[in-house]
Amino acid sequence: SAKPDPILKASGVRRSFGGLTAVNVERLEVQRGTITALIGPNGAGKSTLFNLLTGFDRVDAGEWSFQGRSLNRLSGHKVARAGMVRTFQLTKALTRLTVMDNMLLAAPDQFGEGMLGAFARPVWQRHERLNRTRAEELLDRFKLLAKKDDIAGSLSGGQRKLLEMARALMVNPSMIMLDEPMAGVNPALVQSLLGHITALRDDGVTVLFVEHDMDVIMGISDWIVVLAQGQVIAEGRPADIRANKQVVDAYLGA
Ligand code: ADP
Ligand code: MG
Repeated sequence: SAKPDPILKASGVRRSFGGLTAVNVERLEVQRGTITALIGPNGAGKSTLFNLLTGFDRVDAGEWSFQGRSLNRLSGHKVARAGMVRTFQLTKALTRLTVMDNMLLAAPDQFGEGMLGAFARPVWQRHERLNRTRAEELLDRFKLLAKKDDIAGSLSGGQRKLLEMARALMVNPSMIMLDEPMAGVNPALVQSLLGHITALRDDGVTVLFVEHDMDVIMGISDWIVVLAQGQVIAEGRPADIRANKQVVDAYLGA
C-alpha cells in the first residue's frame, strides 16, 4: 500500500458546548490525493469538526496543520487562502446576488478598485478577467453557465449545492471539505455530484466529505473515518468499515 502522505494532520482537537463534548478527536490524518469520508450518526460532531478545522469555530484545545503549516486560530478566510476550503451542510450562497457574483466574491484576490491608483488598475482588470474566465469554466463544468446572470436564490436546492462546490473551487484549493454535498439533491444530480467529486480527486484535489448514504460512501471513498460522540471510533478502507460491527452499531443506533 502507498506510503502515508498526510495533507492534513490534527491532534487533540476538542470543543464543548456547555456540558456537551461535541468534538474530542485524539488524532486525525487525511492522506493527500484521497477521497476520505467522515461518517457517523447525527450529532456525532462532523460539522463541528469541519467548523473547527476550517476556522469557522474556535477549538478549546488541539492543533492541526495543513501541508505542514499550522492552521491554529486562522480565520476561515485565511484557511481558504492556505488551500483548504469547505462547503456547508446548509448552503451559504448569497441568494440575492447573481450566480456569477457569488463566484467572483469567492475569488482569491478580491480587493477594491478604489484603493488602487491608476498605475495598479491594469493589474486589477487583469485579475478581474482571469477570475471571470475561471468562474465561467467552473460554472460550465457544473452545468450552471446558462444561469450565470440569474440570482442564486432562483436555483434549485441541488443547483445551489453545485454552486457552492464551484465557488469553493475558485481559490484553486489543494483540499476541499464537503459537508453533506448530496443532502436534498435529486438522484440524477447525485450521480453528477459523485462524478465531480471523483474528478476532483483525479485532478489531485484531496476530498474530505460527510455523507450518510452507505452506497455512496462505499462506492467512492478511499478511506473512511467514523466519528461517534465526538470521537474517532474506527477508520479504514471501505471493506474493513463495512465489516466492523462497532461501526454498524453506531449507525443503527442513530
Ligand atoms: P453532526 O454534523 O455530526 O450531525 P454537529 O457537529 O452538528 O453533528 O453537532 C455535534 C453536537 O454538538 C450536537 O449535539 C449538537 O447539538 C452540538 N452543537 C453543535 N453546534 C452547536 C452550537 N453552536 N451550540 C451548542 N451545541 C452545538
Ligand atoms: Mg452535520
